[in-house]
Amino acid sequence: MKELTLQIKPVGNHCNLNCSYCYAAPFKSKQFNILNESTLEKIIKEAFDLTDNLIVSWHGGEPMMAGLHFFRKYIEIINKFKKDSKTVYNMIQNSSYTKSIKNNKYFFIIL
Ligand code: SF4
Repeated sequence: MKELTLQIKPVGNHCNLNCSYCYAAPFKSKQFNILNESTLEKIIKEAFDLTDNLIVSWHGGEPMMAGLHFFRKYIEIINKFKKDSKTVYNMIQNSSYTKSIKNNKYFFIIL
């Protein structure tokens, strides 16, 4: 059984907090890019070509800044390429501070 771990930073180093020790401090501009959905789809498709078990580590900055639409699209992509015999594990490193995410039960169900 092969296993592959991806670390995906959907908003790069951007974050809505300001921890004094943070290495991402220079990346706190109000404007930031979100990982393109077609690029995400290409990454997931190629990963499933290589592995039975996929581990996705969502990292930042604050990965939840990518927003609910982005993560719903991610689940659509997973469901498009994942065969029944394959497993996906998600890990997320976040501050739980993004209000629209914090109060949204969707993430606690799918991630
Ligand atoms: S929550 Fe993490 S990424 Fe955001 S400022 Fe703090 S250490 Fe940096």
